[in-house]
Amino acid sequence: MWYARRRGLPGEAAKGPPLARARSLTEFQQAFPDEGRCAAFLFERRWPSGFVCPACGGKRAAAVKSRASTYECLECSRQTSITAGTAMHRSKLPLPTWFWAAHLMATHSNGMSARQLEDQLGVTYKTAWLLAQKLRRSMIDPMREPLEGVVEIDQAEIPFREGDAFFEPGAAGKIFVIGAVEVIDRDTNQAKPRRKHAKYLDTRSGRIRLAAIKDNSAASIQAFVQANVKAGATLLTDGHASYSALRGYRHDPRVVGKMAGHVALPWIHRVFALMKRWSLGTYHGLRRKHVDSYLNEFVFRYNRRFYRHVSFEALLGIASGRRPVSYWDIAGRENPRKGEIAVRKTPRRRKTAAGMRRDGAPIGPVHGLHIDEPGTTG
Ligand SMILES: [Zn+2]
Repeated sequence: MWYARRRGLPGEAAKGPPLARARSLTEFQQAFPDEGRCAAFLFERRWPSGFVCPACGGKRAAAVKSRASTYECLECSRQTSITAGTAMHRSKLPLPTWFWAAHLMATHSNGMSARQLEDQLGVTYKTAWLLAQKLRRSMIDPMREPLEGVVEIDQAEIPFREGDAFFEPGAAGKIFVIGAVEVIDRDTNQAKPRRKHAKYLDTRSGRIRLAAIKDNSAASIQAFVQANVKAGATLLTDGHASYSALRGYRHDPRVVGKMAGHVALPWIHRVFALMKRWSLGTYHGLRRKHVDSYLNEFVFRYNRRFYRHVSFEALLGIASGRRPVSYWDIAGRENPRKGEIAVRKTPRRRKTAAGMRRDGAPIGPVHGLHIDEPGTTG
């Protein structure tokens, strides 16, 4: 577990509240039975040493009874939702549904398709699909470090699925995928570069990276390596000329002649085999449009395979601090109402800790509300 210790992830798990460490379905459901317990968990994560108003820094707040998981600052009356900035931002789904979905996606070794989530959560397919997509967007750690040490790299072709027709791998189009995996020595749990052409025996795989590339050109391959592998690393490749043209790496090509690739580069071939089996088993083939988010999902789960039960926090977006994504981001379309000014005929009144309160000035001109501004719409 050198690798896990070095990254500090299980350590975080041990420090966290027992809720996050719940493993079984029963334990999980006991830990997060309702909206209140989920909200308390989020509150604890967001404000570990008590509420702090993001507007004025005030420390006193009251829970807003009419709006779940929202707190109103007693100094400046600003209302703050504890889901703001997470994957659950402005969602109408109950928090336990989100938590359960994240738990399922994080702990199931093969992940969950939207169809499987639909059955598990009792929601519509469209809801399940959007939920899965939003959670999948959290499956890339913005702070992640490039691979290092000894790294096997290779390319593969995977069939992709088009339309809703029954998926036939033989008749489908292909996507080029490039992958890299760290090769770790079992006895020291560290990477040990060896002399060129030496065999790497008794090793295991470390972290991986995968990406779809538009072709097998040198430019595509080199861009991937530079973005994902730290300079100075030893690259074990199939001897493709694109790799040796890369500056700043130690090259150890495995020119194998007629030998099968999985003999010379066993770890990356195992990763590709698992990825193909997963994409067919869970998704019945990947679609070209969302292929990157599916590859990210596979990488996320592979890199956390020894401590899956804690990765659901990262999935919920609690840990990452990323910008929430909307349906329109995911569908890759423009929100038709984007930039439109929603005109309110009467000022909105909302229930606050101190009674009903109007937004803005009590009497005045009609307020223009910008729909993309958080907190200005329902
Ligand atoms: Zn305040």
